[in-house]
Amino acid sequence: MKIDVITIFPKMFSPVLNESIIKRAQAKGLLKIKIHNLRDYSKDKHRKIDDRPFGAGPGMVFQPEPIFRAVESIVHSSSFIVHRKKRIRKTKSKTKIILLSPQGKKLNHKLTKKLSRYKHLILICGHYEGVDERVRQKLVTDEVSIGDYVLTCGELPAMVLIDAVTRLIPKVLGKLESTHFESFSQDLLEYPQYTRPSVFRGMKVPEVLLSGNHKLIEKWRRDKALEITRKNRPDLLK
Ligand code: SAM
Repeated sequence: MKIDVITIFPKMFSPVLNESIIKRAQAKGLLKIKIHNLRDYSKDKHRKIDDRPFGAGPGMVFQPEPIFRAVESIVHSSSFIVHRKKRIRKTKSKTKIILLSPQGKKLNHKLTKKLSRYKHLILICGHYEGVDERVRQKLVTDEVSIGDYVLTCGELPAMVLIDAVTRLIPKVLGKLESTHFESFSQDLLEYPQYTRPSVFRGMKVPEVLLSGNHKLIEKWRRDKALEITRKNRPDLLK
């Protein structure tokens, strides 16, 4: 998978993208991430990319031109693109152009799974009051929110999306980190986990986990997963 990120804060990404599973996925050649500075696509001599909103009001809005130019340049240079007509068809079917926005569809397991099947994601990070509406209307294929709250900028949501999607790309996780029974993978939250020591400050690990009886352990885990889901997220059981 290839992920292109359009941002005015390129430096925010390296601490997250160069650690742990995301770093490994890139090293294994399963993921390629490129960060683009939106200001590089401005035609303004001061590299300006925003302006005041029409109709007055507080804050600044990202202008459409730099964002359209950035996306067009990324699409144009993508290696799987051969011919102009084919390019448009292929781009639409294989690429998602995603605007991170509190007004978007809420990111959940189902959506991350769907996105992990695409070959190419282009992520647009907003700031200030957001982006000119024409970007939303004519350029993006999807608008994604990471929750019902407003953050300062789209960079953290973009990193959340990249992390969640990366772990679902086939072969990214090793056997030990499988997503087989992770929270949300089966519409349930995960069962409780314990490790050594078996007694800590008088608190004992449930007997069944030390029994070596895999059938009983599996049943205990399923029951606990149901219990926790019923308590914390009953909506998932519908
Ligand atoms: N004025 C906008 C509104 O009320 O919908 C909020 C703009 S917010 C301050 C600036 C940028 O942060 C947005 O353009 C978006 O890229 C990002 N952002 C903020 N909250 C977000 C969320 N919950 N999910 C995804 N992106 C978010």
